[in-house]
Amino acid sequence: MSAKPVGPRVELPPNLRSLVDDLPDELRVPGNTVEEVLHALVGQFPDLQHHVFSPSGAIRTSVLVLVNDDDIRYRQRGRTAVTPNDRIVLVPALAGGAPRKRTRTPSNSALSPSERHRYSRHLLLPEVGEAGQLRLRKAHVLLVGAGGLGAPAALYLAAAGVGTIGLVDGDVVEASNLQRQVLYETGSVGRSKTAEASRRVRALNPHVRVVQHRVRLSSKNALLILRQYDVVLDGTDNFPTRYLVNDACVLLRKPDVYGSVYRFEGQVSVFDARHGPCYRCLFPEPPPPELVPSCAEGGVLGVVPGVVGIWQATEALKLLLKVGDPLIGRLLLLDTLSGSTREVRVRKDPRCPVCGTTPTQTGLIDYPAFCGVSEPAPRVPLIDPTALARELKTSAPPVLVDVREPGEWAIAHLPKARLVPKGTLADRLSSLPKNRAVVVYCKSGRRSADAVRLLLDRGFVRVRSLAGGIDAWADTVDPKMPRY
Ligand SMILES: [Zn+2]
Repeated sequence: MSAKPVGPRVELPPNLRSLVDDLPDELRVPGNTVEEVLHALVGQFPDLQHHVFSPSGAIRTSVLVLVNDDDIRYRQRGRTAVTPNDRIVLVPALAGGAPRKRTRTPSNSALSPSERHRYSRHLLLPEVGEAGQLRLRKAHVLLVGAGGLGAPAALYLAAAGVGTIGLVDGDVVEASNLQRQVLYETGSVGRSKTAEASRRVRALNPHVRVVQHRVRLSSKNALLILRQYDVVLDGTDNFPTRYLVNDACVLLRKPDVYGSVYRFEGQVSVFDARHGPCYRCLFPEPPPPELVPSCAEGGVLGVVPGVVGIWQATEALKLLLKVGDPLIGRLLLLDTLSGSTREVRVRKDPRCPVCGTTPTQTGLIDYPAFCGVSEPAPRVPLIDPTALARELKTSAPPVLVDVREPGEWAIAHLPKARLVPKGTLADRLSSLPKNRAVVVYCKSGRRSADAVRLLLDRGFVRVRSLAGGIDAWADTVDPKMPRY
């Protein structure tokens, strides 16, 4: 571990202190902003979650947060920057009486008669029993990907009584998913995967709470999402997300139950850097993208993700129940065609950049870039020069914004355009009308496309980029325009 100061000091009043056990006298919590610190705090002491954050994840307005006695509402709220020299004080609103310890969804109480009946085959197992079943009810398991692996895992974890199941998936169900993604039905096609999965899981077991994260996991949201769970089940189908899940689990000290499939084969393991290797110890780098056919290209026998996903669910249950030997440091290889399995030992690599003895990577990185599969920038709405020429002659012509540099503008520009060089655009948004059509142009269409992405991002709706830029305009509309 490095000797760097771990973060600002956090002070809790007695009423919050009484909610958590083993609170150190001086509490230091890592983070560069108030929000990061508070998320790390509740990650460490989950009993505080409910008192500090609302269900939507915002800092509760009933808690006053002070940084060095300054109310953060008058600074940058959750984004207020903090350093290890700062002191954060939480002051919750009081209404007399003692605060209640987390309103644990009745996870502390005994099993109800209906639960006892439902889980009777578990209760018969000495390795589970009532204590184990209560442990499952208290557990939070996150499934990253509600596809071929996540689908069977979700069903079995829900059936087994895991109290909270989180699902991360931004996709909708496609007809070609139904061959293996048994959470979904024919009628699910076109609908959100997390919504359909949530409905199905609740129908299977109403005692289970399903948390939908209808997003693509990214470096921006991964830590916030993963820290709410005890065990993470990696059911992704691509390398960037796989490395992201691994690194986030290492940073948050959570077990990553890994599974992957291809055609007739599968792999399963448990990566827990506290007790063994991580995924990067096994594969420090992904293969080059051109060598990686996906299931969409290579195909997969429908039952294979079923077998692997259920095996992952089994490992997750073992971890939660603390029974048996988890697949830590062991990679299981399944070959369904030959009907054989093999086990490979995986060692922890002391030079591993994330879990080694002197980690060089202490945060999340740009995973698509790391895997050499940087996603193409999103497409932007375009207008071609002839259409623009036509629109400019109407009674409500679009506002023209030229994002080139002044030197280029001096050579040639479109009549009535405004010069807003791309580098200054972000600071001059207020000078642009949000209620009128805007067409942005540059020399070739590349800078203007970036500018349009920025404007769309900032709430402009009617913005388009001139396809081919002023060059294309000169080619098709105004051949006399000077070129450069
Ligand atoms: Zn490692």
